[in-house]
Amino acid sequence: MASGTRRRLVVLGSTGSVGEQTLAVAAEFPDRFQVTGLAAGRNLTKLAEQVRRFRPDAVSTADAAGAEELRARLGADAPAFIGSGAEGLERVAVHDADFVMAALVGALGLQPTLAAIRAGRDIGLANKEVMVTAGALVRREVAAHGGGLLPVDSEHSAIFQCLAGQQRDDVSRLILTASGGPFRTWDAARIAQATVKQALNHPNWDMGSKISIDSATLMNKGLEVVEARWLFDMPPKRIDVVVHPQSIVHSLVEFTDGSVLAQLGLPDMRGPIAFALEYPRRLPLDVPRLDLTAVGRLDFETPDTKRFPCLELAFAALAADEAAPAVLNAANEVAVAAFLASEIPFPGIAAANAAVLDAHVSSTGDRSLRDLDDVAEADGWARAQAQEWLAASGLGA
Ligand code: MG
Repeated sequence: MASGTRRRLVVLGSTGSVGEQTLAVAAEFPDRFQVTGLAAGRNLTKLAEQVRRFRPDAVSTADAAGAEELRARLGADAPAFIGSGAEGLERVAVHDADFVMAALVGALGLQPTLAAIRAGRDIGLANKEVMVTAGALVRREVAAHGGGLLPVDSEHSAIFQCLAGQQRDDVSRLILTASGGPFRTWDAARIAQATVKQALNHPNWDMGSKISIDSATLMNKGLEVVEARWLFDMPPKRIDVVVHPQSIVHSLVEFTDGSVLAQLGLPDMRGPIAFALEYPRRLPLDVPRLDLTAVGRLDFETPDTKRFPCLELAFAALAADEAAPAVLNAANEVAVAAFLASEIPFPGIAAANAAVLDAHVSSTGDRSLRDLDDVAEADGWARAQAQEWLAASGLGA
């Protein structure tokens, strides 16, 4: 960007955890960032506050009723454009901006993120489902339209930072760290009885509810393996996961000479957010500093795939075909929603995911992802399968 001009920012998913923290970073540097668009779901109170504070000229909400209510609440402060649903989301995604923070949760973020990519925007990618469900497709679109793709997930940001200035051919392995989640030290019997509240209680990171549950099952790490595979074009056999309960080492890269680079810091999403926003420079963030002597020790463990089968399901999906990660992701969204609604026990999530992935692998048909319709088809099929499985197993409502 030219010096003296502010970077224009659109935030998709502005009332979620990453969205709010993105706006917090933007607010800390008002001379560097100008917010031009915001999209959120149903938290109209928070969205109205954000609109009053950041004065974007395009805003979108989950549905038309929400858009009307937002307009009424804002009165004279209402922005020029207030849209809703998929159409409103896409309008905001391609609204006048230099950078789009893709921080929606779930598969609904794919379409608007692709629209922003096609409009040539730099993308901050926090919405991991984009790469999970359509990684190959997204890579092709980014290459064709010239924008940047900046990872915001802390692990991928760490890898991205370790890769800076390195030669691709010199990389031998990516090592993603995982906190292990709230049930890391629990035995299988206790995990089987885990409540929603316990599953939401993440030890290190303050996150939304979907990702907190995914962290408890290790599905989150599985989705991040898929994300890493596509973001860094790395074969799955060269991606490892190590459990690191302190969440200080955010991930590592091993090189052909045996050297390993790691990125460290206190767990704070403002770091990866700011790195994406200001890349290739860094922002002077007002965050607590890492004191290694206060941390004292860093532990590392092999993930236990018996207690946490979801991680292996992700590798199985990558090995299967292009559509399988989208299938796994959709099944998982349904299963996590059922768990959050107290309709299934905690191990039901992994069981549902495994059943739907198995059904996909043993069914026949074309599995390549040519376009968004193929992604939507895999996604829809898997959601229906997951609902059916929940009903048939007697677990679902
Ligand atoms: Mg992460």
